[in-house]
Amino acid sequence: MKRVRLLTFNAALGVLDYSLPKGMQVEPGSVVMAPLGPRQVMGIVWEADRLPANEVPDAKLRPLLEVLPVAPLSAPLRRLVEWTADYYCAPMNAVARMVIASGGALKGPATMTEYRLSGGTPERLTPQRLAAIEALEGEQATMRELAAIAGVSEGVLRGLANQGVIEPVTVAIDRRFVPANPDFEQPELTDDQRAVADRLIEAVRTRQFAPFLLDGVTGSGKTECYFEPMAEAIRMGRQVLVLLPEIALTENFLFRFEQRFGAPPVQWHSSLKSTERRRAWRAIAQRPDQGGAQVVVGARSALFLPYADLGLIVVDEAHEVSFKQDDGVRYNARDVAVMRARFEAIPVVLASATPALESLQMAESGIYEKLDLPARFGGAQLPHIDTIDLTQEKPERGRWLAPRLVAALEDRLARGEQSLLFLNRRGFAPLTLCRNCGYRFQCPNCSAWLVEHRLSQRLACHHCGHETRAPDVCPECGEPDCLVACGPGVERIADEVAEILPEARLAIATSDTLNSPERAAQFIHEAENGAIDVIVGTQLVTKGFHFPELTLVGVIDADLGLEGGDLRAGERTYQQIAQVAGRAGRGSKPGEVLIQTRHPEAAVIAALAHGNRDAFYAAETEARRHAGAPPFGRWAAIIISSEHEAEARQAANRLGDTRPHLDDLVVLGPAPAPLSLLRGRYRYRFLVNARRSVELQKIITTWLGTQQFAPGVRVNIDIDPYSFV
Ligand code: ADP
Ligand code: ZN
Repeated sequence: MKRVRLLTFNAALGVLDYSLPKGMQVEPGSVVMAPLGPRQVMGIVWEADRLPANEVPDAKLRPLLEVLPVAPLSAPLRRLVEWTADYYCAPMNAVARMVIASGGALKGPATMTEYRLSGGTPERLTPQRLAAIEALEGEQATMRELAAIAGVSEGVLRGLANQGVIEPVTVAIDRRFVPANPDFEQPELTDDQRAVADRLIEAVRTRQFAPFLLDGVTGSGKTECYFEPMAEAIRMGRQVLVLLPEIALTENFLFRFEQRFGAPPVQWHSSLKSTERRRAWRAIAQRPDQGGAQVVVGARSALFLPYADLGLIVVDEAHEVSFKQDDGVRYNARDVAVMRARFEAIPVVLASATPALESLQMAESGIYEKLDLPARFGGAQLPHIDTIDLTQEKPERGRWLAPRLVAALEDRLARGEQSLLFLNRRGFAPLTLCRNCGYRFQCPNCSAWLVEHRLSQRLACHHCGHETRAPDVCPECGEPDCLVACGPGVERIADEVAEILPEARLAIATSDTLNSPERAAQFIHEAENGAIDVIVGTQLVTKGFHFPELTLVGVIDADLGLEGGDLRAGERTYQQIAQVAGRAGRGSKPGEVLIQTRHPEAAVIAALAHGNRDAFYAAETEARRHAGAPPFGRWAAIIISSEHEAEARQAANRLGDTRPHLDDLVVLGPAPAPLSLLRGRYRYRFLVNARRSVELQKIITTWLGTQQFAPGVRVNIDIDPYSFV
């Protein structure tokens, strides 16, 4: 009898042994169904010597039920799952779940129904029906998609279907994606760009692990450069993964990709419908020469998909913190991308104008190869940067824009050029209070203020999503008309611009307003076509966008990100402001950046104003070295939480009593986390700081392993944390 070890998708049981029935064939990586009590559980066949389990006697083993019709997960992918689980102290089956990210994909081929015009005419042709029919010319999609295209309800279309004007078509869900053509439209690269592209092409051909840091100023053509090795991988019949930090950036990328390769890439992100998910998943699991996906562009979760033959990974805007996942498996996609490239023996490109300090350090120590693009494409100059000292040049009372910034805005409007105002705060005001009694609106589930969103007339918690209507009277003292908004958000800045420049066409660009690919696409279209004069936006508009007429960038509050004790606050501020500054003057006209601050002398602000990136990074590196912070030392956060304050506190204190005492490791805490209440759970936090040489994960898992926690207590481990709340 043959014994098979299974990594099951049952979180509590994890690893189980089964017997292999006669006639069934499996290999490591096979995805199978197995019996579990009266039910069934999915699992992945694993090498027994890599995965410890309680040895069950042969006689007690139950037979596997079925092998699912998908290719076995490759050895490099299995190693990645093991590494990720080990490194981030996460259960292996939670990581494996990210691989098997589409239940539908495991079911084998299937069909679905789409609709299209049949060529017939309806009995009664209303203007609405006529418009719908015109809009649907040449389209074929699901009813819901057609309704969106035609801008009518599904009911209208069903009416047309009943009359035979629209007909159903049965299509395979997993139909092939249109192939990309590596030679569709090749740009002429500058000498600098050519050198970078050639080096990357060579690396793709070599088929070996090779990590690159592509360090190019904003507007230098990093995208054009990494398109070339992508084209080479496509020619070789291999697959490419491009990770982008934000869905809002995807539209822009898709557009450029299609211009270069003549067809869209395969997309992977959280808002795919389940049929799109399974189609993408199955295409990814297939080699391109058999009709599989060539290029996949996606959010961080695309990193764990079962690529049939990956040849290159690109991480664009690699410094972005949104590559860090802060729930479930708390991994950093930038780091995992490098590990995947290593297991797959392929090159990986981290592209950024403001690399993470960790990445620069890796380049410095020779582990990453650094490729530089020091100049903007087409002779465009980097913008001129100046600070506005808010303690000297004060905005008018109740306003947020200093006179010099107002004058600059007026000037651009008069010249027909675009301006961008950056404030990393959604909504109208971050805090609302009662003038009469001092009551402050707070989230009932979190220790956080409610943010006023005037556009949607709501008060919202940005941590848990709690929302209420903005009331007319104070809920505490009952006084009417006594609520005051404190501090600005983007909506308030937009109001101020509308007052100062009533004729300016305004757009607010945040995750609230650009919350779908369509809206993002529309915004890009309008901005590119000069239909917007002033953009007011959050970090969403700091990267990726290329608006040639944009010549002024105003940073409303450069000090905002420096508040709070975040280890990376300085670096993040530098990156955000340098990136948003990089939106200015990308076309033929020179750009200007005005940074409002109360601390023009702060190292990060001074470095920005003087364009002295090296000085900033050098100072920051020294500070980190001194503090034993990454990349020189390591941090881990452990959060103990419960719905009951006392339970959380006691569990944290008890854990604190058994803390490890070691030379090269310090355990700080427990202390109430800065967000001491989040989504109705009370939180206590430990911070562990260790030397690089310490086996941090092993020490933490051993320490926590000695503890029994009450069922209501949750323990989260965050290795290399980015969020310190
Ligand atoms: P980055 O990502 O480095 O900020 P982009 O790749 O967005 O820069 O390039 C900036 C702009 O310059 C884009 O509009 C891009 O199409 C254009 N560009 C860059 N290199 C070339 C080239 N070799 N030929 C034509 N256009 C280019
Ligand atoms: Zn909340």
